[in-house]
Amino acid sequence: MRINPEVECVIDRALAGEEITPPEARTLMSVDVNSDEMYALMATADELTKRQFGNRGEVFAQIGINFWPCPKSCGFCVFGENWGLTKERVELDSEEVVARAKVFEEAGANAIFLMITADYPFDRYFEIAESVRDAISPDLPLVANIGDFGPHEADRLLETGFQGVYHVFRLREERDTEIAIEARVATLEAVSESNLDLSYCVEPIGPEHPPEELVEEMFRGKEYGAVNHACMRRTPIEGTPLAAVGEISEWEMARAVAATRLVAGDTIRAMGVHEPSLLSLRAGANQIYAETGPNPRDTVDDTETGRGRSVQQCRRMLWEAGYTALEGPTSVFRGGW
Ligand code: SF4
Repeated sequence: MRINPEVECVIDRALAGEEITPPEARTLMSVDVNSDEMYALMATADELTKRQFGNRGEVFAQIGINFWPCPKSCGFCVFGENWGLTKERVELDSEEVVARAKVFEEAGANAIFLMITADYPFDRYFEIAESVRDAISPDLPLVANIGDFGPHEADRLLETGFQGVYHVFRLREERDTEIAIEARVATLEAVSESNLDLSYCVEPIGPEHPPEELVEEMFRGKEYGAVNHACMRRTPIEGTPLAAVGEISEWEMARAVAATRLVAGDTIRAMGVHEPSLLSLRAGANQIYAETGPNPRDTVDDTETGRGRSVQQCRRMLWEAGYTALEGPTSVFRGGW
């Protein structure tokens, strides 16, 4: 196999445990997906993951709590108030969220994520989260996926028993969303100054994003000390403004996952791909999500009946990719114990 010397040099440096630079990551993101360089990149990312994590695969399980119009109206999200796609308000009550968390735990989920829209009342969220914390194993990490917040809420998350937070600076934040850049950054700062662990993701990737923009988010996650890095492609939802721009292929997704894996090096404890993708699981990813309840990428109010995968389906996909699904709680999130 003949490899472009520039790509080969970056790959060799990554395999030697050296940190790659943003220009080198852009070189990786410019590789033709139908080339020998693409296979070399995927094999390198896979090698780094196998070296660090063996063949351990992980399933994180996310429960969406509410399905209603969100005033932030992100151009890719089904909840966006301006798109009129969420006609009825649906909200899972505390008992329902607890029941779903227990189902996830019994099925073998390695962490539980609780997600709300940006305007969901924090007090109600903390009440529900407390019930979940009391009901699941004290060793099973709880991770928050919520709107922007500050140091006070970070403390409350820790008091409630959360170990981590999923928070990202989305691609074209403030242009494709109605959220100020400063608010996203302030939240990331609040997380990094707390004992909460950060789960980060380059998202939502569309065909219009050049390598520079993706690489910026790969490094932002690394700079904020993400313990779990990931990539997610945008799902085109009819009725949202960005649906017409289309989506990237699984190959393009795998390239982003592999490049992110090389950027992250040994700073992470798991590498994710969202939504689950077998190809990306052969390109350095070893962690995927099961989902239930409302989902910003789904038009049905319970994604279990739509795009969302079960824990069992995720474990099966990990097996198909050559991983053994972890039994019991993950050790990725260690904050606040
Ligand atoms: S992505 Fe989040 S902030 Fe944006 S519209 Fe959807 S729920 Fe609201």
